[in-house]
Amino acid sequence: SLEAGGQLMSPKSPLKVFGEAKKKINDIFTDIEKYITDAKSFVSSIVNLEYELTSTDDEEFIDELCNRVCGIQEMLNRDRMKVAFFGRTSNGKSTVINAMLKRRILPTGMGHTTNCFLQVEGGTSDEGTMYEPIPDSNEEQVRSIESINQLASALSEVKLNESSLLRIVWPQDKCNLLRDDVVLVDSPGIDVSPDLDKWITKHCLDADVFVLVANAESTLMQTEKNFFHKVSNMLSKPNIFILQNRWDASARGTPSEETIKLVKQQHLDRAKAFLVNELGVVSKAEAEKRIFFVSAEEALIARVHQEAGTPTPTSALSEGHQGRLFEFATFERRFEECISQSAVQTKFAQHAVNGKDMVVKLHKLIGIVRESAVSCYESKQQQRIDAASQLDYVEKQLELLTSDVRAKIDEVVLDIEKKVASAFTDEIRR
Ligand code: GDP
Repeated sequence: SLEAGGQLMSPKSPLKVFGEAKKKINDIFTDIEKYITDAKSFVSSIVNLEYELTSTDDEEFIDELCNRVCGIQEMLNRDRMKVAFFGRTSNGKSTVINAMLKRRILPTGMGHTTNCFLQVEGGTSDEGTMYEPIPDSNEEQVRSIESINQLASALSEVKLNESSLLRIVWPQDKCNLLRDDVVLVDSPGIDVSPDLDKWITKHCLDADVFVLVANAESTLMQTEKNFFHKVSNMLSKPNIFILQNRWDASARGTPSEETIKLVKQQHLDRAKAFLVNELGVVSKAEAEKRIFFVSAEEALIARVHQEAGTPTPTSALSEGHQGRLFEFATFERRFEECISQSAVQTKFAQHAVNGKDMVVKLHKLIGIVRESAVSCYESKQQQRIDAASQLDYVEKQLELLTSDVRAKIDEVVLDIEKKVASAFTDEIRR
C-alpha cells in the first residue's frame, strides 16, 4: 500500500538491519576489548614472577591485539552504507537523491555548475556543514550551512576538478536515510570527459550500490555503459540499479497506451540485456528487480509536500503519476534491502572473521600460560613432596642416632654406677 508521498508503508525499513548488525558487532567488539584488557593486566601481573609462565613477547602480542581491536572499532564507527549515482548530466541524478532524502538539498537543473562529486552524509549537529577540499593539499575548507539556499549559493562558488569530492554533512534527524547511515554520492555527468578509472578508484571501490540514472526519453549511451563495464571489472558483481527516469515526460504526449507499453518493453529489454548479458552482474529473474520506470521530479514534489504536511496539487503531477510514484517507492524498498544486505556482508563479515581470529589467538595464548602454570604448580608440589620425604629421613636418622647415644649413655651411667657401687662396698669392707 502507498502513503500520500508515494512511499510504501512498512513497519520497519530494511536499512535498520544494518544499524542492528552494527550495534551487535560493536557490542561484540566491546566484549573482545574487555577480554583483551583483562588478559593484558593478568599477563603483566605474572610476567615478572620467577616461574616464567609468560614472556614480554606475550605482552607485546596482546598489545598488538589491543591496537587491532581499536582499529576495527574505529572502522566500525565509520562504516556506512554507500550509494553512488551515475548518468549523463541532466538525467536527474540530483533530483533522485533529493527525492530519496525527501527535500531539495542538492541544487538541480541547468544552473548547477558544480562538476565534482558531491557526497551527502548525516551528522549529529543541527546545522549543515560543507567540506570543500583545497586543491593540491590534504586540507579542506569547512563552511557551516544554515539553509538549503545557502548551500546552493556556496556550491555555485565551488570550482573543483571533476574527480574531487565535496562533502555535505547534513542534520541526520531531518532525513531517515541519513539517520540510518546511508551516504549518497552524486557524480559529475558521465558525459563530462571523465577519467573513469580515477573516479572508480577514488570514490567507488567502497560503494555498496550503484544507481544508473538513465533518461527514459533516449537509449542507454555507450559512455554510461562503459562506466559500468569498468566498475564490474574492478568490483566483483557490483549491485547496479537502473532508473529509467523522466518517465513522466516520455509518457506525456505519447499517443496511446499501446505505444507506452512498447517503449517500456524496449527499454526493459535493453537494460536487462545490459545487466544480464553484457555485465553478467545479475540473473534474468533478478534483473526485473533492478530496473524501474520513474519520475524523480514527481516523487520529489510528492515527498516535499508530504514532509510539509500539505497536499500535493495534482496539477504538479502528470497523468499516471500514481503508478510512477509506486514504482519509485518499490525502487527505494529494493534499494534498501540490497544496500543493507550488501553492506552487512562486505563490511561486517571481515570484521567478524578478524574478531574471531583475535579471540582464538588470545585463547590459545592464555591456554599456554595456564598449562605452564599447572606444570609449574605440579613440579613445585613434587619438590615439596621430595623435601618432605627427605625431612622424614633426616628425622628418622636423627632418632636412630639419638637412640644410639641414649643407649651408650645408659651403658656408661650403668657402668659408673656399678663402679661407684663396688668402690663403696670395698670401702665398707675396709
Ligand atoms: P543531474 O544533472 O543528473 O543531477 O540532473 P538534475 O537532477 O539536476 O535534473 C536536471 C533537470 O531535469 C532538472 O530541471 C530537473 O527538475 C529535471 N528532472 C529531473 N528528473 C525529472 C523527471 O523525472 N521528470 C521531469 N520531467 N524532469 C526531471
